[in-house]
Amino acid sequence: MNALVLLHTEQGTLPKVALETLNLACGLGMPFSVGIVGQGAATAADMIASCGATTFEIVDAPDVAQPRYASDTAAAAALIQSAGANVILAPQTSRFARCLPGVASRLGLAVDTHIAAVTAQDGAVKAQRWFYRQRILSSFSRDARPWMLLVDSGVNAPWQGASGTANAQSVPVNFGEQRTTVTGVQALAADAQTIRPEATLLFVAGAGWTKKQKDGQFHIGRASGIIQGFLGKAKASLGSSKSLVDLKSEGQETLSFMSHMNQVGQTGSTPRHPKGLSTCCHGEEPHAVGWRFITERRAINLDANCGWAQGKADVVYVGDAFEIMEKVNALLT
Ligand SMILES: Cc1cc2nc3c(=O)[nH]c(=O)nc-3n(C[C@H](O)[C@H](O)[C@H](O)COP(=O)(O)OP(=O)(O)OC[C@H]3O[C@@H](n4cnc5c(N)ncnc54)[C@H](O)[C@@H]3O)c2cc1C
Repeated sequence: MNALVLLHTEQGTLPKVALETLNLACGLGMPFSVGIVGQGAATAADMIASCGATTFEIVDAPDVAQPRYASDTAAAAALIQSAGANVILAPQTSRFARCLPGVASRLGLAVDTHIAAVTAQDGAVKAQRWFYRQRILSSFSRDARPWMLLVDSGVNAPWQGASGTANAQSVPVNFGEQRTTVTGVQALAADAQTIRPEATLLFVAGAGWTKKQKDGQFHIGRASGIIQGFLGKAKASLGSSKSLVDLKSEGQETLSFMSHMNQVGQTGSTPRHPKGLSTCCHGEEPHAVGWRFITERRAINLDANCGWAQGKADVVYVGDAFEIMEKVNALLT
């Protein structure tokens, strides 16, 4: 049995999730080769030359300099066919999540997504993934081969090791006719993007920020300034409770930079961050489910008896989040 670790470059280097996937493959104890798609693939192969791969194959044609379904599918299919592996591990990036299901269909591979762990023992490969909003962790295997597994980010430690000379070989690809031309990328400025999967800290804002405060008044402008100030200084990722993001659809004044994309919880997301700070937020769903993968948990709430404070947070600061976060921002300055 042998494996292929299929990776792609991002701005000429390997993204962190690629190194996490590589590390997972290194721990399987089976021979594996590496295939890399994208600009700078040969340099990227040199970066991981000491990982123990049997061979390195690349597609570094101008056609794959930009992510595009048609060319990425052709390149990934060529690398998979050339490697002839039984098991293929690939990082679940947006680029691969878009093209690899198409590759699986084209080549007749079995494919599973959102993989958290893979083990191999006596020829039996088992994968793990979460189901039902991260409440049930399932271990499963398939008889079908080749079997392609897209690995989620933030679960495994990234591979670390010396660079060297990988002697990566180019694999020829017939790209055929390309109907899509990539003319550029339009993205928010890094600071305007509030969802930051790689951030050390998840900062969750609850509906309390938009409630009447002790002077009987709303302070939504002040809340916006405090939260945005903190996110800018701490480079934290912003999460929200459902109640807070729902205010917008009810036509109430709320935090303009908050959308349903920020919502964590049972009907929101379950991000992975080493630390979490919950502010003005009481809800059970954002915390019990949304914080499942948050390692160190802290909260600021006026109410020492709030549901979240009771038993689920490691540290609770009982106090006014406006005053506390203003002080924190001042200290960060
Ligand atoms: C089926 C189902 C699914 C759900 N899924 C989700 C989900 O995915 N995500 C989710 O978030 N919710 C979900 N909910 C809703 C959830 O039950 C709660 O209603 C919601 O999370 C409450 O939001 P909140 O804690 O922000 O607001 P509130 O309950 O209004 O709490 C506000 C808190 O702010 C505190 N506060 C106010 N002012 C200050 C201050 N100055 N300083 C410090 N603290 C202050 C208050 O003490 C209070 O604890 C779901 C509900 C159901 C029924």
